[in-house]
Amino acid sequence: MDSDSSSFIDLRSDTKTKPTPEMLQAMISAELGDDMNGEDPTVNRLEAMICDLLGKEAAVFACSGTQSNQMGLRAHCLPGDELLIHELGHIAIFEGGAPAILSGVSCRTLTGERGMLTVEDLRGKIRANDQHLTRTRLLCVENTTNAGGGHYYPLDQLTDICNWAHENGLKTHMDGARIFNACVAGGYTMKEICAPLDTISICFSKGLGCPMGSILVGSQEAITHARRSRKIFGGALRQAGIVAAACIYALENNIERLQEDHDNARFLAEQLAEIEGISINPEHTETNLVFFDVHPERGNAMQLSAALKKEGVGIGAMGNSTLRACTHLDISRAQIEQVPAAVRAALKAGLDQYQGIATGPYARG
Ligand SMILES: *Cc1c(COP(=O)(O)O)cnc(C)c1O
Repeated sequence: MDSDSSSFIDLRSDTKTKPTPEMLQAMISAELGDDMNGEDPTVNRLEAMICDLLGKEAAVFACSGTQSNQMGLRAHCLPGDELLIHELGHIAIFEGGAPAILSGVSCRTLTGERGMLTVEDLRGKIRANDQHLTRTRLLCVENTTNAGGGHYYPLDQLTDICNWAHENGLKTHMDGARIFNACVAGGYTMKEICAPLDTISICFSKGLGCPMGSILVGSQEAITHARRSRKIFGGALRQAGIVAAACIYALENNIERLQEDHDNARFLAEQLAEIEGISINPEHTETNLVFFDVHPERGNAMQLSAALKKEGVGIGAMGNSTLRACTHLDISRAQIEQVPAAVRAALKAGLDQYQGIATGPYARG
């Protein structure tokens, strides 16, 4: 079975969703204008809605989460500056080295539990003001964490690290690609979560189910700067309302339902915990990302991923023995219920038939 088949259960990412007929209808009927000149009424409405929801002054629509993250860090940093980020942060490892390429900024990567940072992790990491030393300018946090395991920051922890950063002269940026998952799982409002952050990047193309689109939110000053960067980074569009309409539709219809994705993820985690050859602590599945390990004597994660594809299930490798399954809008409970049997079948058939598959997807040595 291949990934084009309609019965393929695609848990590789929450980016795999396709727009529903209702979302497409909203896109078709959107009022449009030239957004580069601020004349697209639908984009303007989306930006205003997000400002209201987050309690921030200004917002700017962007093509992708990578782009809005990079616009955000460019708003705070100058070439030669350094940002602090968890070593598993998307900005540090999954954006192609963009901080260095686009802004001349280096990432100082730190360790912390489950992809998150505490004040203890950060203490001593801001460099002194000395001509020899790189200037530390920005703290980047990811919420929910992606490679860290789909965790959301407890509000106290998030507020503490941001307050500490501000007291020490840093700005704060949140990669909130899945911030609505954090809201729903933690029972927080967007205003509460976003209050301690200077800028926040949000994706509409993940759990919210849009075909594309992200947004950067912050102070008027930061967003004015980000608008300039958006143009330079090639992201200033014309009748972008055709996409913004999908984002507005998602804000109005697809947030509360994220709980279903979280319930499906936890259910899958509990089922996987019963399977011999698989390790997972279901308590660690807090949102829509299910991380689990295959026992090395059975084979590696890439081999299990290949075997699962044959069984009609898409689950990607995230490390030598770690795989990640994502639940989303296009995945039903009935489909999730079929996954444990596919995993059992894949393990039973034996992973050693998949020879020559590298041990990890992100390392070659
Ligand atoms: C998906 C994602 C992004 C944005 O990535 P794009 O490839 O630009 O869509 C940013 N941060 C995190 C944590 C993500 O998971």
